[in-house]
Formats: sequence, C-alpha cells, structure tokens
Amino acid sequence: MKTALVTGAAGFLGSHLCDRLIAEGMRVIGMDNLLTGAMENIEHLFPLERFSFYHHDVTRFVHVPGELDYILHFASPASPIDYLEMPIQTLKVGALGTHNLLGLAKAKEARILVASTSEVYGDPLVHPQPEGYWGNVNPIGPRGVYDEAKRFLEAITMAYHNEHGVDTRIVRIFNTYGPRMRVNDGRALPAFFSQALRGEGITVFGDGSQTRSFCYVEDEVEGIFRLLMSDYHLPVNIGNPVEVSIREIAEEVLQLVGNPSAYITYKPLPVDDPKVRQPDISLARELLKWEPKIQRAEGLQRTLEYFKKALDVEDVKT
Ligand code: UDP
Repeated sequence: MKTALVTGAAGFLGSHLCDRLIAEGMRVIGMDNLLTGAMENIEHLFPLERFSFYHHDVTRFVHVPGELDYILHFASPASPIDYLEMPIQTLKVGALGTHNLLGLAKAKEARILVASTSEVYGDPLVHPQPEGYWGNVNPIGPRGVYDEAKRFLEAITMAYHNEHGVDTRIVRIFNTYGPRMRVNDGRALPAFFSQALRGEGITVFGDGSQTRSFCYVEDEVEGIFRLLMSDYHLPVNIGNPVEVSIREIAEEVLQLVGNPSAYITYKPLPVDDPKVRQPDISLARELLKWEPKIQRAEGLQRTLEYFKKALDVEDVKT
C-alpha cells in the first residue's frame, strides 16, 4: 500500500486531496498547523485506519515515521486577506516549509508535488497565461509575500530536482471553488455566497471588470492527481480556462441565491489586483489528457448547497 503525506490537509484543497488519495487506496498522513485550516474538513477521515493526522507547522523540522511514497505540499494561507494578515507565515511556509518537505522527500525517496499558483504570473502581460510566461510580479506589494514565496517554492523545487534528483511535480493552481472553502476567507466566491445568503451587499471590488477563471474543486483535484501520477517535472497549469468578469459572477451568484434583500455594492480595488487571469491548459490537455468537466452553473449550485449548510441558512425565497 502506498503512503502519502498531505500538508495543509485541513484546508480546502488539502482535504479534498486526502479524500481522493484515500479513495485511491492509499494510506494518508495529514499535516496542518490549523492556521487557516479547519478540522471539520477532515473529521470524517478520522475513523479510517488508513488516515492519521499530525498537528504540526511545516516551517519547523518535519519528521514522519516509516516509508513515504508521495508528499503533496499544500500548506499555505491562500486568500489575499489571509496573507495580508500573516505575511511572514506565508513567506515561511512557501520557503522554509517547502525546503523541509523537499528534504523529507529526498530522505524518504518520495515523489513530491508542490502547490504553486497562477500568482507567479502576477498582473499578467500575456493572456491567457502559458507555463512559459515568466510573469509580472511586484515583489514588495501586499501580494508579494505570497507570489514570491511561491516563486521561491518553484525555484527550490527545481533545484532539488536538478541537484539531488528528487522526483518533483509543480502544479500552478488557478482560482478554485467548491465545498469546504472557508466562509470568511475573503475570496470572491465565499464572500459573494455568504453576502447573498445573508441578504447583504455583495462587495464587488473596483468596477468588477477584472477577470478570473474559476475551476470547480473536483476538476482541480483530478488534474492534480493526474499530474502526480505523470512523469513530468516542469510546472503545469491546472485551472478552468472559462474566463468571467467579477461583476458577471457576482450577478450569477445574486441570481442563483435569489435573496431579494441582497444587492451589488462596489468597493475600492485592492492594490496590485490582477486585471485578468486565464490559464492556457494546452499542456495539461496533451500531457495529462485532462480538462475541466463541470460547468460553472453546476459548480455554483453545488457550492451554494455547501454555503447554505455552512451558514445554517434556510432556503431563501425569491
Ligand atoms: N473580489 C471582489 N469582492 C470580494 C472579494 C474579491 O470583488 O469580496 C475580487 C478581487 O478584487 C479579485 C477577484 O474578486 O479581482 C478574485 O479575488 P480573490 O480574493 O477570490 O482571489 P485572487 O484571484 O485575487 O487571488
């Protein structure tokens, strides 16, 4: 039986990955310092003999007993308001945490997949973004702590691959959504769903003309798993190429939730907020035979069911 270590296991993506690896018949060791993760996301795994959990901060030395086949490094604050509040932890988990896990991968002769991000492209000057684009990042802006930590993560991962022959994978994750997102994490969809359900103003930043491309979590996890099982060590974009403006998706959420008290309200655009973002997924299509399957209408509907439960809101009548 294969054993996988997942860091950030109690987080949104980490917990879905734990589920997937368990479903694949693996033994899964979850690790999380619970800075932004939530135990509820993995509580259902605790009765399983094949699952264990360490409450540990990967910026400190990481020790795991026994053999390890796979490491998936997904620990990091991932929402702009989180990394604005925790700039140093964000830098440390991307830098020191990644270093520790690469060291562990080397010692255990494990394959390691690290979570990078579309943020390595910054406010992109090439659109859509292929893996070969180097990005347009402000290192000292408010987002720099995340962007540069993830750029360092990619650099040190390649160095361990080239220098020590560690079996590495790098996934560049674009905006992902679905059940288990933190209600108050400040990202667009959790904010819009909770505001719409509570009958408050839906806070669109700027004029809402900036774009993102949202991938449903199940599709994202499928792409990540396929990359893990591939033999490709350069970065691969995994995201949904269907691009939408923030104003448009705010209107879709408003419509879907159907709460007559909710309305759209405009707030200032955060500093360095990327104007556009869309993955070029030609590489993933060819290499992994992967592309997203779940349409936005379906994904948003499933996400709404989750937020209703998470917020304990009864069906909102139109
Ligand atoms: N956004 C917004 N209202 C919110 C939260 C976010 O209009 O309450 C915008 C944000 O300015 C950005 C986009 O939605 O243009 C996506 O933001 P998010 O925080 O989800 O992630 P990002 O893609 O910026 O990392």
